[in-house]
Amino acid sequence: MALATEKRLVMPLCSSCNKIIPPGSEATKFPCPNCGDIIIRRCKRCRVFARPYRCPKCGFTGP
Ligand SMILES: [Zn+2]
Ligand SMILES: [Zn+2]
Repeated sequence: MALATEKRLVMPLCSSCNKIIPPGSEATKFPCPNCGDIIIRRCKRCRVFARPYRCPKCGFTGP
């Protein structure tokens, strides 16, 4: 029982397209430049196409 560590794999979602970022993919993540509270994640595809992202907390949008 004691060894049963509960690790919940929360799949990260791309902040631009809202799709699941698979583990090991070339996604990027960085704190929101405005509020710093939200980790913005962008999948490889959104990086390549330079899609805008939006912070769900403060509404900051950026390239
Ligand atoms: Zn994306
Ligand atoms: Zn923010």
